[in-house]
Amino acid sequence: MRRRVRQECGFGCVICGLAIIQYEHIDPPYHEATAHEPEKIALLCGSCHDRVTRGMWSKEKVLEARLAPITFVKGYARDAFDFKVPFELFVGDNCFTDVRCIVRKSTGEEWFSIEPPEAADAPPRLNAKFFGPNGQPELEIYQNEWKCTTGVWDLVVRGSIIEIRTAPRKVMLRLRAKSPHGLELQYLDMIFQDTGILIDEHGTVRLSIAGTQIQMKGSEVSSADAVFNLP
Ligand SMILES: [Zn+2]
Repeated sequence: MRRRVRQECGFGCVICGLAIIQYEHIDPPYHEATAHEPEKIALLCGSCHDRVTRGMWSKEKVLEARLAPITFVKGYARDAFDFKVPFELFVGDNCFTDVRCIVRKSTGEEWFSIEPPEAADAPPRLNAKFFGPNGQPELEIYQNEWKCTTGVWDLVVRGSIIEIRTAPRKVMLRLRAKSPHGLELQYLDMIFQDTGILIDEHGTVRLSIAGTQIQMKGSEVSSADAVFNLP
């Protein structure tokens, strides 16, 4: 039922679109609720939730937003990471430091790039798209902001873990922010153009391209332009 609420609310606060959410019982309030009816529960971020609890905003405002969530107007729920240098990217069991991107094709196209800070005290800037089975980006990171499309089957944020599922028990992506100095790609199963990218539960990274496989486990890569140079 919670997944249905998440999906109907577009996986973010129905008022502002933030992906870090709490469940608000619109009518009746939680302590009076006898049955949990999905249509009477809305996703709100902590900030919007607090305004409603204090009575600064009305339950009617939440109900209206529940019927037409801002997430669907924008097409995504979003939040921002908090990163600083030195920065480590953990990809499965591997650790990458000071790398410009994970995958570079001979055409120059990149997957998962990390642009260096613009100033000494500025953050490294991460950019990546994670594609679902239909070829559409389900989650996008652009300059450390992340957006999850409202079309995804499920988005669950627990603590600093972001998980995307494309079907029941089918995880596509699991990330964990190790703020401010790292990010873990714990699990991934997707296709980038003609390349299959799998990070399995044992921490092995497997790239499949035109019948050949490249594997990496337990490696440390530093000061590289690209971890994987592909044809
Ligand atoms: Zn909000």
